[in-house]
Amino acid sequence: MQHEFSHVVIRQAYDLSQHRCQCTDPSCSHHSDDEGRCRQILRWPAQGEPVRDGWYVIHRDPTGPGTIGNCQVLCSQCYAHAMATRRATKPLVQRGRPALVTAS
Ligand SMILES: [Zn+2]
Ligand SMILES: [Zn+2]
Repeated sequence: MQHEFSHVVIRQAYDLSQHRCQCTDPSCSHHSDDEGRCRQILRWPAQGEPVRDGWYVIHRDPTGPGTIGNCQVLCSQCYAHAMATRRATKPLVQRGRPALVTAS
């Protein structure tokens, strides 16, 4: 079973994302910046809406806890890609990329 994120964690994740999509998946079709990050601007009231500036939170580790460190903010486009990828593959293997959110 997945551990759902609380509203507090979701709000923290949104703030930490600086209101931008955190997707860095090289197989994703987002328009990336130099760091390969999506950076689509996200609108807080549009959480869960399938619109361009809509956004979703996903578990970095699908079987991990519902904590801020395991919470990633994605725009609707990247969310759809991530979900399709997860359905198509076996459990996600961490690829050793440094986490975008540091604990400092
Ligand atoms: Zn995105
Ligand atoms: Zn993406």
